[in-house]
Amino acid sequence: QYSTGSEIRQKFLNFYAEKGHKILPSASLVPEDPTVLLTIAGMLPFKPIFLGQRQPEFPRATTSQKCIRTNDIENVGRTARHHTFFEMLGNFSFGDYFKQQAIAWGWEISTKVFELPPERLVVSVFEEDDEAFAIWRDEIGVSPQRIKRMGEADNFWKSGPTGPCGPCSEIYYDFHPERGEDNIDLEDDSRFIEFYNLVFMQYNRDNDGILTPLQNKNIDTGMGLERMAQILQQVPNNYETDLIFPIIKTAAEIAQIDYHKSDDKTKVSLKVIGDHIRAVVHLIADGVNASNIGRGYIVRRLIRRVVRHGRLIGINQEFTTLVAETAIQLSEAIYPNVRQRETAIKAELQREETRFLETLERGEKLLAEIITKATPTNLPLTKGEATDISSPLNKGGLEGGNSGQATPTNLPLTKGEATDISSPLTKQGLEGGNSGQATPTNLPLTKGEATDISSPLTKQGLEGGEISGQDAFVLYDTYGFPLELTQEIAEENGLTVDIKGFETAMEEQRRRSQDAHETIDLTVQGSLDQLAEHIHPTEFLGYTLLTSDAKVE
Ligand code: ATP
Ligand code: MG
Ligand code: MG
Ligand code: MG
Repeated sequence: QYSTGSEIRQKFLNFYAEKGHKILPSASLVPEDPTVLLTIAGMLPFKPIFLGQRQPEFPRATTSQKCIRTNDIENVGRTARHHTFFEMLGNFSFGDYFKQQAIAWGWEISTKVFELPPERLVVSVFEEDDEAFAIWRDEIGVSPQRIKRMGEADNFWKSGPTGPCGPCSEIYYDFHPERGEDNIDLEDDSRFIEFYNLVFMQYNRDNDGILTPLQNKNIDTGMGLERMAQILQQVPNNYETDLIFPIIKTAAEIAQIDYHKSDDKTKVSLKVIGDHIRAVVHLIADGVNASNIGRGYIVRRLIRRVVRHGRLIGINQEFTTLVAETAIQLSEAIYPNVRQRETAIKAELQREETRFLETLERGEKLLAEIITKATPTNLPLTKGEATDISSPLNKGGLEGGNSGQATPTNLPLTKGEATDISSPLTKQGLEGGNSGQATPTNLPLTKGEATDISSPLTKQGLEGGEISGQDAFVLYDTYGFPLELTQEIAEENGLTVDIKGFETAMEEQRRRSQDAHETIDLTVQGSLDQLAEHIHPTEFLGYTLLTSDAKVE
């Protein structure tokens, strides 16, 4: 029962059309709702209907909705099932059919249309939802061991502290039924994948937190297209489906490597490229250009990650427009705007990629500064000394003549001293972190000298030959330097990196994105600008270091 991604999409829409649903086109990734950054679920375009602010034109609708979830960015390539960009298939009832019918159809489409064997399926219900439990057990015939009660975090949906809300029920596919029914743990993603979420919007929550049944109960569902494709195409992850793999193949060809023969790290990079390029193509097609705020910042961050991962797998040319072309080809039949906007998409990619390569170059200079700063010594340079401290690895410099000058501009050197301080960073260094010795080993540094090398970066971490966690984080976050690369270069210079400090800075950033996700999840109202600020304070700080990048487009 192999099905292409397109077939799965069409089968889903047709099934619900036959059940009286109006097929509606995907809405833009940029929501009409000004308080929400991006479309994160199929229900978002219908939010005003669910909130009672707009009358539905049809009592039932079905869509394949483009979605972006930036909160899953760190999962990309690391789990088998998360993307930033994905399509959510959904069926919706606006005060029409409810729980019993939604469950029956959810089961029917899974087992009859997609022909998943019933014994491969496990369902979850909200712990207090005895009604849903009974429907699954008595009407559908699922054995009670395969119906799991879950808590509020996973199985209760709300659009905010007050308003419509209700329990949900999810359908999971079991990759390893031979492991038995006694130890079913739906969190175990080596065994289970959640593919379909049915939300039963049945209550209104008032200011005192009291739930009262809604007059018009609604159904909101979401099935991940790429996840169903993974299951039906029997591949180990969403990335190896026909929806994404051609992009990965294009990137692998450019890097002259074979995905299937690559190590895990390389595969992660290829998956990141495959995922992010799809996201960026659709975002730009929907009118979002790279910038330093809000949605534009997301586009910029995604493109930079594509470029960085390209370098990690050995791509030393501009390549984003080439992989974008494959992504456009994959999507244009369903989303014609990606071809209509082809020129704009490619121009934007080209511009951002070139710019980011320049940023990387500046990052190299900054790192050179940090290294000098962190070296617990003073420069004993006097005229005539240390005139040739060129790196053994500097030969090619960066591809495309980007070797730049790594000379920290505020080094207290006087003319004639250290005239050839070649970059401690090299092309190889940026690729796989296998730079070997990037250290200008003949630096005539001795302890106690060169004390006044001021840097825009923090002053912490100067003692003990350590690069501070904050500096490493700025390099990572703003300049796209992976921690391992900074570490390796530090080591080669006899320095260490404050990993704990880096992780703390990273954790802070993650917490902010999570807060932001809750915001995007409609729980907090606020202006778009506030949202954007809320998400990326660190990056903004970082960009102030880059005069030419500092201006907001
Ligand atoms: P998970 O627990 O796997 O992160 P979720 O519970 O956050 O998924 P929902 O919010 O219930 O997901 O979204 C409905 C459906 O959309 C999911 O069942 C899944 O099939 C799909 N989906 C959700 N997030 C992603 C993602 N990041 N990438 C691909 N598909 C997704
Ligand atoms: Mg999730
Ligand atoms: Mg879930
Ligand atoms: Mg879910």
